[in-house]
Amino acid sequence: MKEVRSQESGARSHSDEWLLSTEYFLVKLYCRAVQSVEFTTSLALGMVAFPIALAAPVSALQVRVTPANPQLGDTLSVVVQLDNPAGSKASLPSSPTLAFGQKTYPTFLIAPNQFRAFLPTTPLDKAGTKLLRVTSDAQVQNLSVLVRNHSFPMQRITLPPGKSGLDATEYEMSRVATFKQLETPEKFWNGPFLKPNQGAITTIYGVRRAYNGVLAKDYYHRGIDYAGAEGSPVIAPAAGRVALVGRVSQGFRLHGNCVGIDHGQGVTSIFMHLSRINVKEGDFVQAGQVIGAVGSTGAATGPHLHWGLYVQGKSVDPVPWRNHKFN
Ligand SMILES: [Zn+2]
Repeated sequence: MKEVRSQESGARSHSDEWLLSTEYFLVKLYCRAVQSVEFTTSLALGMVAFPIALAAPVSALQVRVTPANPQLGDTLSVVVQLDNPAGSKASLPSSPTLAFGQKTYPTFLIAPNQFRAFLPTTPLDKAGTKLLRVTSDAQVQNLSVLVRNHSFPMQRITLPPGKSGLDATEYEMSRVATFKQLETPEKFWNGPFLKPNQGAITTIYGVRRAYNGVLAKDYYHRGIDYAGAEGSPVIAPAAGRVALVGRVSQGFRLHGNCVGIDHGQGVTSIFMHLSRINVKEGDFVQAGQVIGAVGSTGAATGPHLHWGLYVQGKSVDPVPWRNHKFN
């Protein structure tokens, strides 16, 4: 992603616009084991938990989707509880799989018989009702989840003819792409994510761009910019394993000196434009540990920290992760 700080003045922080939602949508559907019946349940705004008991339950899948009223950029947490897993008690239930939109997502064991998947949404997605299909052994449930639109700010940038931004090298793109695809089964983070730098937020997540009046269709600001002073500390917002250290000298032309932290279960963070790197690949870092310092390496016109948070390879809004416990 390209960083043009001087043109980001139109952005503003919306960290307080995130509506912290502790309300859970609880959908409990009982399926007769002998009949393979599928139910479609609409998770509409304001609807409360409603068990539908169509028959004496033989086995049950309990699915909980949060936040209750998601908007584009949010991370959906889908928790699947297997009340009565198929097979004998001695056998471990297999991980349910989730299909959301056109993609399938892995689930990770978070408690006995309880699995979770994080589903990313981004400004490039279409708002509206999306099908969520949960499959566990012989049971299938179809839910529909309404993802609201969100109006992201637009930066209007005028470029002289023939001028384009600084391109990433193939080397850095491949290293970063590999990093973002990590799906480590362990969960390393605990509690809300910390602010990685004390500087003011200069560009929020999701800002779109128009160059010479034409919307850059695939562009959105894939993270948050902090205007920390050159050399000010960058800390790990949450624990994890350092899975990427990239340097300008190796060809990280766009990202600059950067660090990538694998928080586990498909959640990764990248920190760009660093002047100094304090960690090496393979290190395990704790939340709050200094991993580097703010700089202006790579495609940056001045010192700032860019923090990108990725879920299943997609850049999501970090704000809910700062305010909300995705534990
Ligand atoms: Zn940025």
